Amino acid sequence: MLICHTINEIKSFTRQAASQGKTIGFVPTMGYFHAGHLALMSEAKKTCSVVVSSIFVNPVQFGPQEDFTCYPRDIDRDKRLAVEVGVDAIFIPSVEEMYPPRFSTFVETKKITDCLCGKSRPGHFQGVTTVVTKLFNIIQPDIAFFGQKDFQQAATIRRMAEDLNLKVKIVLVPTVRDKDGLALSSRNIYLEGAQRQAALSIPKSLALAAQAVENGERDPIKVKMAVCNMLAAEPLVEIDYIEIYSLPHLEEISLLQGEVLLAIAAKVGKTRLIDNLVLKIPDNWPIIPNKR
Ligand code: AMP
Repeated sequence: MLICHTINEIKSFTRQAASQGKTIGFVPTMGYFHAGHLALMSEAKKTCSVVVSSIFVNPVQFGPQEDFTCYPRDIDRDKRLAVEVGVDAIFIPSVEEMYPPRFSTFVETKKITDCLCGKSRPGHFQGVTTVVTKLFNIIQPDIAFFGQKDFQQAATIRRMAEDLNLKVKIVLVPTVRDKDGLALSSRNIYLEGAQRQAALSIPKSLALAAQAVENGERDPIKVKMAVCNMLAAEPLVEIDYIEIYSLPHLEEISLLQGEVLLAIAAKVGKTRLIDNLVLKIPDNWPIIPNKR
């Protein structure tokens, strides 16, 4: 596996692969790999002849009170795991390589970033779309892989790729969970003792919502209330948001129909966790018999 620290190194690798007619799959990450990251890489491996990943803890997407400096990092372990899934090259730039002193251009996607994490973390998605644009321009992938766990991130990047006529196709990979149901996240390492048990109320409340919908509930407010009650019963969980939006554009709805996203963000101790579920609502309107 090739390890590149400079833009020129990774560019020459990907340009050469492209000139040989190879499809380039790309998995951008912030590192500290878990099975969720590896699922993205394995998916890329299935459909692309060359797989490139990047590890970059992007300072621009962290707010001033957020965990940029203490974000977990273990590059040696990441390299070993990436080799095991067959990644061909990893790009690990420094902050200076990505943001040289006179850097002053940002990419912003509006509307789709007004809600959920875009609302709770001002400037976050501008940091994401800026770094991803840079990475796309450097790597020039044919397909880029993103996890459903960060649904709004993937939806925003898809919007950006369409709006800016980028050639890259965006593929969404399902959320990988631990045996107990908790969505894997590099930040799970922060959870101490009882906090991890408390965090399980997040996937449990998603399951409760799915059950309510299966039982016929079609009022988004009632579904959100059920989720809220379950999370609120857990004293270590501090709710940031519980929202339901229509797909694919993340718009507000007053009735559950079609495909919807139920998304949760909550803090457990100092750790901010997010999770979501895509609900496919069956078309089960009562059939009104024809009048004779
Ligand atoms: P991160 O390193 O947290 O920025 O994540 C890099 C990529 O991995 C993003 O596309 C995430 O959505 C994806 N990812 C993170 N956690 C998971 C998970 N549990 N399942 C699937 N994909 C994930």
